[in-house]
Amino acid sequence: MKYKRILLKLSGEALMGEKKYGIDPSLLEKYSQQIKNIHEKGIEVAIVIGGGNIYRGIEAEKSGINRVQGDYMGMMATLINSMALQSHLEKLNCYTRLMSGFNVHQVCEPFIRRKAIRHLEKGRIVIFGAGLGKPYFTTDSTASLRAIEIEANIVLKGTRVDGVYDNDPEKVKNAKKYNELTFNEAYEKNLSIMDMTAFTLCKENNLPIIVFDMNKPGNLMKLIEGEKVGTLIY
Ligand code: UDP
Repeated sequence: MKYKRILLKLSGEALMGEKKYGIDPSLLEKYSQQIKNIHEKGIEVAIVIGGGNIYRGIEAEKSGINRVQGDYMGMMATLINSMALQSHLEKLNCYTRLMSGFNVHQVCEPFIRRKAIRHLEKGRIVIFGAGLGKPYFTTDSTASLRAIEIEANIVLKGTRVDGVYDNDPEKVKNAKKYNELTFNEAYEKNLSIMDMTAFTLCKENNLPIIVFDMNKPGNLMKLIEGEKVGTLIY
């Protein structure tokens, strides 16, 4: 296997599938099965899941809600997704732990770095919910920082698109896909792969990212077996 410990970032939006809002359970089922498959190969798996399918803080002000309040609502949305994913993984008999960026004692444990690492070593799939527990961050930044903290080998960013393109492939017909990019190239070309905070954290800590299509079954397995899928940023 190419990696020992990975951090898988799933966007909340990807969970919507064809729906306009919320969670498509068939997608959670598919994701969980794929996660289980790689976990069974002995990979230590940590997961960060977004909340954009339910709520995004940035949209708060438009609806008369204070931005910071909105961000906390967004973090709660990530917890809802995390709990749904945890349930689906457990249905497949995976051992899991959900750790939250802020305290929600009745639901899950708080994020404690050493505990997270211990869970991973013991073969538990660890989900980091509630982002970093602070407003003005995103779940991409959460993925980068948590990956650094737990010393993951790579951030695997699962999206609806199969990599990084020079233009939005959902809008521009002849958009060109990159197979590999250095962090500097991505900066120079002004490609939006993650937000700047997330991206800079990865760059400064030499943590590679792979952007890939999570909706294509088997992609995750191919990645951990070392096959070239999606776009590698290093
Ligand atoms: N959020 C936050 N701090 C964090 C992580 C998330 O304030 O550390 C909020 C923020 O409002 C964000 C929302 O939670 O818009 C949902 O996360 P995100 O937009 O990253 O989800 P995704 O786009 O991956 O679905």
